Amino acid sequence: MMCDLCGVREAEIYQAHSRKRLCKECFLNDILARVEKEAKKQNLLNANKILIAVSGGKDSLVLADTLSKIVNPNRIVAFNIVEGIKGYNREDQVRELSNYLKELGIDLISTSFEKSVGYTLDQMVKSSSQRGLNVAACTFCGGFRRKLINGAGREVNADFVSTGHNLDDEVQTIIINLLRGDVKKLLRIGDSQPKLSEKFVMRVKPLRKVYEWETTMYAYFKGFHFQEVECPYISAKPTMRAKVRDLLYALEERSPGALLQILENFDSLAESIRKGTKLGSLPSCKLCGEPTSFGREYCKNCELLISSGLIFA
Ligand code: SF4
Ligand code: ZN
Ligand code: ZN
Repeated sequence: MMCDLCGVREAEIYQAHSRKRLCKECFLNDILARVEKEAKKQNLLNANKILIAVSGGKDSLVLADTLSKIVNPNRIVAFNIVEGIKGYNREDQVRELSNYLKELGIDLISTSFEKSVGYTLDQMVKSSSQRGLNVAACTFCGGFRRKLINGAGREVNADFVSTGHNLDDEVQTIIINLLRGDVKKLLRIGDSQPKLSEKFVMRVKPLRKVYEWETTMYAYFKGFHFQEVECPYISAKPTMRAKVRDLLYALEERSPGALLQILENFDSLAESIRKGTKLGSLPSCKLCGEPTSFGREYCKNCELLISSGLIFA
């Protein structure tokens, strides 16, 4: 069967949401064109500096690869964090990531929780569980990662910090916040996010309109070697995100293109709500000075360290 776009090469992929059979080249070009469209919408094309968070996973490699073809690579800085998880973080991974980014012409800054926070993730989890707290490793990990990425963005004077979240991640986040009734978080999702504090560097997600299976195929066609080992902290019991993900997969299977449709409808709805909503400015954490939620003295990260007995207020 021939490719529906070029008509000259053998089709290798069926893209259910567009109902097209594509050859490898046309598929890669289609992804690149969609990332470029999104990057343009998020104002990335004129940015002086963009910090991209790279874990070494497939989405971060796809992000680096596509963005380096859209924006001059010397305006991109990659940022990698070693969490300090025994058996999961490996030195050869960082080396491979660094070599690959070098080929793309992107500089890499690396840090670790140990260097920047004072403790590895394993130590934080151990200390909090010794105090009888029931805090998931991902709560520490996600919170500190966000904080360090934002801080690194500020340090290099980036106009944007970019993560490799894909369409599946984005729609899951929308549904989870809808189910929790978290309107403030919901309104922060999107392509023209309101800035709640001067200390926040604008966050962007150029892959937010690309399906997860598409980033996997892109990485496969490009021959990327990516982190495939599963983090030992991934919960054995299904999390809310896993349940939502399964529901969304079932929906997408019945109506191909449903996820893309949900995101596009959400974006236009959120945009019109934002216009009429004043969100104000966030207060600063008394310990670290970073932005915290309305009504809180300390940020969530400092609260976690205080309750785990690792710092004192
Ligand atoms: Fe961090 Fe592992 Fe949780 Fe991912 S699964 S957020 S790497 S602790
Ligand atoms: Zn083709
Ligand atoms: Zn703090």
